[in-house]
Amino acid sequence: MKALIIGGGVGGPTMAMALRQAGIESVVYEAYETPSDYTGLFLNTASNGLDALRAIGVDVAGRADGFPMPRMVMWSGSGKRLGEVANGVRLPDGTVSVCVKRGLLQKVLREEAVSRGIRYEYGKRLESYRTVGGGVIAEFSDGSTAAGDVLIGADGIHSRTRRILDPASPEPSFTGLVGVGGYSRVPGLAPTTGTQHFVFGRKAFFGYLVRESGEIYWFANIHSATEPTRESLAAEDWKRRLTELFADDLPLINQIIAGGAGPIGAHLVHDIPTSAVWHRGPVALIGDAVHATSPSAGQGASMACEDAVVLAQCLRDLPDPASAFAAYESRRRERTEKIVAYSRKLGTGKTAGPVARVFRDLMMPVALKVFAGERSHAWMYTHHIDWEASAA
Ligand SMILES: Cc1cc2nc3c(=O)[nH]c(=O)nc-3n(C[C@H](O)[C@H](O)[C@H](O)COP(=O)(O)OP(=O)(O)OC[C@H]3O[C@@H](n4cnc5c(N)ncnc54)[C@H](O)[C@@H]3O)c2cc1C
Repeated sequence: MKALIIGGGVGGPTMAMALRQAGIESVVYEAYETPSDYTGLFLNTASNGLDALRAIGVDVAGRADGFPMPRMVMWSGSGKRLGEVANGVRLPDGTVSVCVKRGLLQKVLREEAVSRGIRYEYGKRLESYRTVGGGVIAEFSDGSTAAGDVLIGADGIHSRTRRILDPASPEPSFTGLVGVGGYSRVPGLAPTTGTQHFVFGRKAFFGYLVRESGEIYWFANIHSATEPTRESLAAEDWKRRLTELFADDLPLINQIIAGGAGPIGAHLVHDIPTSAVWHRGPVALIGDAVHATSPSAGQGASMACEDAVVLAQCLRDLPDPASAFAAYESRRRERTEKIVAYSRKLGTGKTAGPVARVFRDLMMPVALKVFAGERSHAWMYTHHIDWEASAA
């Protein structure tokens, strides 16, 4: 069997490596002209995502400069400590969630895939595909084509594969949040070893951590009742806007923003709560292409990795792609939709009006103690894929 994998982000190379481990050949087709590792922001690779990668012998945490981030501490804008939440669960082998620069994670996965003999082709933007006999022919915008037995769309939240597979598939939905972030330095600020801090500011939400080197990773979430255009985000003077938004909150926030090194990135936060069609004929979707999650739960990359490993296992063990794709969907749909919904809920709690803010500041310390223990999120973080077990 030969698989055509569309997209070389996080899910694409993981899919290719998992297929190789299952004895299935694949090629990764990436729209970018060259390996273009987006180095803008950072993300959480959760213990369950690291565990999925380990199932196929990939250990990214150390190689992608990942650093353990087991604790999250919550603050009100006025500086009241609201409580603490575990960022995942320590797995029996000691694995904990790590924070990595998104581009570096992608780069390490790509390099690992290439070192395992997987072919990448760049400048291959999927335009269309057609099914022929039992297989599929991908058509790229440069006029070239490629033939395979199956095609796997790992082409992210704005997936072209999804659009062709199901023209009625939902558009990514705006969550009401704009995400902004960057890197900074504030002389004298101590490292926040193992801890990420989150501040529920009066007008916006702020998160930061300080590495041993003094480098600060930070982001802000701003509520927006209507969906801004990308052009308006690009035109915004973010330093000025953020400084105004956080003027009445902990002064440290504006010190971090002022100490910014490099550009401030801004993006619309979208998700895809459900997709009716996950596969059809020889084509299936994985990762953000089928169930994009907002970043609040820190699970997007991990979900793409889990999908890839499960789909490869199903293709390995079931007699034909149709039954493999059906088994894959039945193992993945409920879990991924639950995580997208959970992440959306976390996002809506990030900004609040004055009354809700008072209530939140009073209740959160109690709620975190009662409901946010390590075990309460074990369903998300301890999910394990037994690669040796049969998917049949
Ligand atoms: C600011 C931000 C913060 C985030 N924070 C977190 C976090 O804390 N934790 C977490 O787990 N996740 C986070 N995410 C989400 C995470 O990056 C994605 O969920 C994850 O990368 C999904 O992997 P994927 O392979 O499905 O898609 P992607 O990694 O987006 O890869 C898609 C690839 O497909 C390529 N492509 C697109 N169209 C085509 C086409 N037509 N033909 C060929 N190739 C194409 C793209 O160029 C890209 O390389 C965050 C995302 C953002 C934007």
